Amino acid sequence: MISKCIFITGGVVSSLGKGLAAASIGKLLEARGLQTTIIKCDPYLNVDPGTMNPFQHGEVYVTDDGAETDLDLGHYERFTNAHISKDSNITTGKIYYNVIAKERRGDYLGKTVQIIPHITDEIKRSIKKVSREKRVDVTIVEIGGTVGDIESLPFLEAIRQLRWEMGDSNAINIHVTLLPYIRAAGEHKTKPTQHSVGRLREIGISPEILLCRTERKITKEQREKIALFCNVEKEAVIEAADARHIYEVPLMLKKEGLDELILRKLDIRRADKPLKEWSDFVLERVKFPKNEVTVAVVGKYIQLPDAYKSIYEALVHGGIANDTRVNIVKIDSESIEKGKKLKQLQGADGILIPGGFGDRGIEGKIKAVRVAREQGIPYFGICLGMQIACIEFARNVCGLKGANSTEFNKKAKEPVISLLEEQKSVKDLGATMRLGAYPCHLSKKTLSYKAYKKDNISERHRHRYEFNNKYKSRFTKNGMLFAGKNTQHGLVEVVELKDHPWFVACQYHPEFKSKPDNAHPLFREFIAAALRNQKAE
Ligand code: GLN
Repeated sequence: MISKCIFITGGVVSSLGKGLAAASIGKLLEARGLQTTIIKCDPYLNVDPGTMNPFQHGEVYVTDDGAETDLDLGHYERFTNAHISKDSNITTGKIYYNVIAKERRGDYLGKTVQIIPHITDEIKRSIKKVSREKRVDVTIVEIGGTVGDIESLPFLEAIRQLRWEMGDSNAINIHVTLLPYIRAAGEHKTKPTQHSVGRLREIGISPEILLCRTERKITKEQREKIALFCNVEKEAVIEAADARHIYEVPLMLKKEGLDELILRKLDIRRADKPLKEWSDFVLERVKFPKNEVTVAVVGKYIQLPDAYKSIYEALVHGGIANDTRVNIVKIDSESIEKGKKLKQLQGADGILIPGGFGDRGIEGKIKAVRVAREQGIPYFGICLGMQIACIEFARNVCGLKGANSTEFNKKAKEPVISLLEEQKSVKDLGATMRLGAYPCHLSKKTLSYKAYKKDNISERHRHRYEFNNKYKSRFTKNGMLFAGKNTQHGLVEVVELKDHPWFVACQYHPEFKSKPDNAHPLFREFIAAALRNQKAE
């Protein structure tokens, strides 16, 4: 049996926050005792975003089962208890890949293979599969892109068919649209929304609910006008005003009665439950924290807010756990290379280096770790941030001047970070990294053990290179602690520094498992250490 479905489309412009809206709806339905899941449909031809540059796509979000997916799925995992997996992200590339494989196998029995019905059938099959396997009450399907794009047409046709097959109270469409405020006219304009709903109706989809993104409050008259022209109930014109904090969005939508409305449209009866814990714990602490710290994030893509999405979110969560506002200072590693931004770096209460690829800005990052190590500033290294910490330690503490990763210098004299044998034969770049959840064993009497309060953990990975175990004893002698390892493969997972207030670097990506109401232990402890560092100054 396939669950009830909510299809979310977007109109007028991109970046309206459809992903956040979907996650907020998931949160509201979960609060009512419903199990939900999400599917993100991306109309691009890449099979997954794994090979895309962050400037193209923002962060690549990694699931437990090792899928490289869209960052909207990260919002969903942060807001709800849903379990996201590789099938939760459907791309045009993936759909065509499957259809072409079937054609080559001869599955279509001599037929001409076409967009309709073969591509649309494959989309429907992929949606139904997730909905069936996850055994949820409601599946939220978010269609990427904007209505009117050529690329998203097969997805829209597929959801039109699904809606028809499923019937009225089993499937609804929520259209996220923009009401631009024209200052000179002193009012919101509804025409773009009318046009985009018109486009949807041309292809046979009449939205049941309109989520109107606005800068200011919409008036009763405007709601009535939108309802009349777009063929929806007045109550179904939902105001989605700009929120100061993303964690406010579920509460704002609840105030608009969105959860009640969805339940009614889907013919589901569940008692109302206020989101009290969410508003008391999460929102209160985000809005009125007792303390404040500054964390420097040193990276290559700092101009782009989406490139390190989960990292920034996890820092906020670490702040919530410590009743602390985290001010994030984003520092371009190349500017450190040029000797700039050092003051900002030294003035930070904590320094974090996130994941990354390629050699641009690497020397700046190495300088940043050195500042953290020598000046006792709490340091948190993630993936590339751990590799950099090891290179810095090798060069400046162990005296291995030629230390590097073979990613940046294939002929490095001291390859402290290098490729595993199994990676050396890899030719394709897509989906061939060490991906997804792997177990890690933590040694007692380490900062990491103190944070997690257990010794067997599981964390998500996305990297090709590893610490080179040949250098382990040299590092240990000089004061580095190998706090976590993958016992099955003997791989280093976490390193720490003995004589430092808080220096923890891990090969995995803890940021993917942090939640606003349940901060990841390492982010929680990093912010606590930054706070102590600030108080000690
Ligand atoms: N480029 C490094 C590797 O592939 C680090 C990857 C990352 O930070 N995600 O191992």
